Amino acid sequence: MTIRTRIVISEFMDERAVAQLAAAHDVLYDPLLVDDMPRLITEAREAGVLIVRNRTQVRDALLAALGKCKVVGRLGVGLDNIDVGDCEARGIEVIPATGANALSVAEYVIASSMLLLRGAFASTPAVASGQWPRAALSNGRETAGRTLGIIGFGSIGQTTARLAQGLGMKVIAFDAMLNPGAAVFASTGVEFASLDALVGEADVVTLHVPLADSTRGLFHAARIAAMKKGAVLINTSRGHIVDLPAVAAALRSGHLGGAAIDVFDMEPLPADISLQNCPNLLLSPHISGVSLEANERVSFMIANKVLERLK
Ligand code: NAD
Repeated sequence: MTIRTRIVISEFMDERAVAQLAAAHDVLYDPLLVDDMPRLITEAREAGVLIVRNRTQVRDALLAALGKCKVVGRLGVGLDNIDVGDCEARGIEVIPATGANALSVAEYVIASSMLLLRGAFASTPAVASGQWPRAALSNGRETAGRTLGIIGFGSIGQTTARLAQGLGMKVIAFDAMLNPGAAVFASTGVEFASLDALVGEADVVTLHVPLADSTRGLFHAARIAAMKKGAVLINTSRGHIVDLPAVAAALRSGHLGGAAIDVFDMEPLPADISLQNCPNLLLSPHISGVSLEANERVSFMIANKVLERLK
């Protein structure tokens, strides 16, 4: 018989996965706990396991309160909201849901690429009001034959490559941890490119790197200027990696043909009228990895890993 452990879940999780945990352990599930730090800290003191998404900052006072904690489960993959080094020093294992939301992010990238390359899907208000902007929308581009440049060729990057190849795109990738001869390039049929070559060659550039010192500010104004004229930039990785004002300026000048941005330096993004009027810009509230199916996969993956760890 396993000993019942106190599991505190501070953000939303699939309720059937919560029930699976509650059948064997003592669970506090409160998706609003993340917004009440004093109460979260009080609850954390008794927690043997803490389960979070990306909003709970597992560091400083919260981490200090986790004196009985053995595991932090992360309902997602980026670990920038968790002080992993300090967790390790305290003997706390950090378990991410590696790969479980990759398909949702990859589909978001493909859909955004097709929408922005073709440029024909924002005409509803004009058509419904009796205008007929056919000539203006007749220069959209097909996706097949275009080059997709993937920066960060891990779980999401590789899933995106597979979908893009299915559409007939040429796929090139750069990853700081992989050399050009790495087996993954041959097995996926993706061509290695240096960062500079990729930026200059790709019709669509998509970012799938973690937020780290080496990626902070990676897409600054000069790198955006080095992209092909008319290219599309997609950021589903993290804020602080892409300079959003520089993206908006490049869209307005016509240098960029489109951009899809799902993650921001500050979330929620503060209201910004200049972004509301920016051409060919798709903004979404950090949901590329969040779908019905991904929520379920992420939640059950973490529930099962936590249960396994507590055996
Ligand atoms: P992963 O660890 O499988 O892949 C990341 C890859 O980036 C690795 O191969 C790594 O070698 C590479 N990398 C690291 N530093 C680099 C650098 N400086 N330059 C180039 N490559 C570098 O992770 P993943 O599952 O593919 O996820 C990637 C990121 O996407 C996560 O860290 C997370 O921040 C973000 N993400 C966002 C959402 C969302 O909803 N918007 C969902 C899931 C993941």
